Amino acid sequence: MKKRAGGPGIPEKRAPILIEGARHRGRTVDAFIDAEGKIAALGRDAGKKARRDAETRIDARRLLLIPGLVNTHTHAAMTLLRGFADDLPLREWLEEKIWPLEAHLTGEDVYWGTRLACLEMIRSGTVAFNDMYFFMEDAARAVEEMGLRATLSYGFIDLGDPDRREREIRATERFVSTVKGMGEPRIRPAVGPHAVYTVSPEGLSWCAGFAREEGIGIHVHLSETGQEVQDCIAARGKSPPAHLDACGCLTERTVAAHCCWLDREECALLAARGTSVSHNPTSNMKLSVNRAMPYPWMREAGVNVTLGTDGCASNNSLDLFRAMRDAALLQKFAWGSQTTLPAPEALLMATEAGARALGIPSGTIGKGAPADLVLVDLDGPAMTPLHSEESNLVYAATGSSVDTVICDGRILMLHGEVPGEGEILARAAKAAAALVRRTGR
Ligand SMILES: [Zn+2]
Repeated sequence: MKKRAGGPGIPEKRAPILIEGARHRGRTVDAFIDAEGKIAALGRDAGKKARRDAETRIDARRLLLIPGLVNTHTHAAMTLLRGFADDLPLREWLEEKIWPLEAHLTGEDVYWGTRLACLEMIRSGTVAFNDMYFFMEDAARAVEEMGLRATLSYGFIDLGDPDRREREIRATERFVSTVKGMGEPRIRPAVGPHAVYTVSPEGLSWCAGFAREEGIGIHVHLSETGQEVQDCIAARGKSPPAHLDACGCLTERTVAAHCCWLDREECALLAARGTSVSHNPTSNMKLSVNRAMPYPWMREAGVNVTLGTDGCASNNSLDLFRAMRDAALLQKFAWGSQTTLPAPEALLMATEAGARALGIPSGTIGKGAPADLVLVDLDGPAMTPLHSEESNLVYAATGSSVDTVICDGRILMLHGEVPGEGEILARAAKAAAALVRRTGR
């Protein structure tokens, strides 16, 4: 892969930025971001000294400063499938709609689909995501150009076939070495064993060993449906978490997506292994998995619970503001409790907890932290009145309240403008239409 510093829209070099007069935790603050992309000063008068050093000054007097959001479960390029097939029975949806389309995907499709996903995430305040899909070299190129942080994994699926396993092993090794070779600290590789029902025990064990050797994360789907649990017990004599654990896949570098059908003991196992959970409330409701991720048990056990959207075929939006709201509402509904998953906890899931899961230094705002920041418009109805920043952010705002996004010290969106947006929308729409034509559906 050719090394490109920045992309069409991302400034090649960082320049010092001064955010002036933002609201942050009930106070008015300035934030000075140095040329290393770090928050060098934060406070009421931080701007005074920094004013002459700043190359860009952002007037943030009607803006709320919050950490950038972290989406811990995506299949980014599935943006191309948004709205293609909805409201169908699961098997029909997968076998007649989604899989045939995916079989015709090309690297170029994944590149434009991932750029569209990055655009949508930037517009809705997400600065980092955890992605699993195919043609991941092309996804990495898209992320590099769009300026976000991402942990990327190639979706490893061997279906118990030894020849296929060998090919998946080679593909995973190749991808990890490609990403490491990019030398771009924003982009990290991970290993992506898809799930216990698509990867053999040998494949899972290989993934665990390879991730350990490489010192990288594991991204896996876990206990999404009751069927998955029943089938795993029938085939392996163990529940999905116990089986993953026996294969060495539950580690503190692991992010397990969904985790709906878990009992208390299995939550305690995840806690003991230090595995993070990605809660995907919208996808779970849309695909009617019939069980909400057991948040109270996770919390009781001390599991690091984070938030994800899942791919666009099962959501159909990458807006984490909506996911925060859906999580807070679903948990209350499922547990018959108005106090379950209050707004501040939903916000922590989408920021600090997500960053911890991916082992990246974002998710909080403080001196010395990387500038992964979002400014939210305070002038809209969703943020008025401002009795509680957190309540408004979780229950009333959507991604469209986001005004400005900074990641790793670079401005990705300024007052609603993302460079290159028109081209991304046009090219992604064209790729999606061509994909449907090629598939003949
Ligand atoms: Zn998924």
